[in-house]
Amino acid sequence: MSFNNIINFHAHIYPENIAERATQSVSDGYGIKMDYNGTLEQLIEDGKKSGVTQFAVQSVAVTPKTVQSINNFIAKKCSENPDILFGLGTLHPDMENPEEEIERCISLGLKGIKLHPDSQRFLMDSDKAMRLYEMLEGRLPILMHCGDYRFQYSRPERLAKVLDAFPKLTVIAAHFGGWSLWDLALQYLENKNCYLDTSSSMMYLGQRRSKELIKAYGAERMLFGTDYPMWNSFDDIEMLEKMELSQNEYEMIFRKNALKVLNIEEESK
Ligand SMILES: [Zn+2]
Repeated sequence: MSFNNIINFHAHIYPENIAERATQSVSDGYGIKMDYNGTLEQLIEDGKKSGVTQFAVQSVAVTPKTVQSINNFIAKKCSENPDILFGLGTLHPDMENPEEEIERCISLGLKGIKLHPDSQRFLMDSDKAMRLYEMLEGRLPILMHCGDYRFQYSRPERLAKVLDAFPKLTVIAAHFGGWSLWDLALQYLENKNCYLDTSSSMMYLGQRRSKELIKAYGAERMLFGTDYPMWNSFDDIEMLEKMELSQNEYEMIFRKNALKVLNIEEESK
């Protein structure tokens, strides 16, 4: 089976002049060699090799003062490439006037928000973060980085608490709900109201366990993503294709769930 029109829901991009440096710093932080340099150009090239035609692009503000310029950058890239990009904005719990920036994100055409408690250094269930969820509930979906055994910030039990507090909040829990904490994530998130993405996980879990997790959560909750520039898309897509899921499950994971989350209607072909 081979798929086209795949959406990569988890792609970080950086302005050309800092892409190399930003990518290197993520590489150092995780001790993982990156497949790409973090530019939009290479992201598109990667997609061409594996049937990925659209991307949810994002960039995380590690300090409040960079929020606006990053949102401007993402919005600009999206308006230059409207057919292939969906933009996710950034916010920071310590910023002044998040409400105003959320309004600005919406008016810039951004379709969601990416948060990264580990690199932004906030506890996912802290009061100041809860304030953001309250503002976003019913307005924009959140792609949430989840899990890292080295940190307390984004542990699965914190996400479970957030989801209980905000039943109408749309959250896509990245990395099968908890990078390096995959079983703990299943324990806390199996029956919660959230989506999950497949990024940065299957190369650690292996095909058999990855499939078990997809089945446990249900394909109707899973979105394909690669965590560009970290990994190429073809290895993960190849592994997914070998799982022998149903046509319907593949369509949900590769495309339909992403469109649903982004609130985009598409004519059925
Ligand atoms: Zn990410």
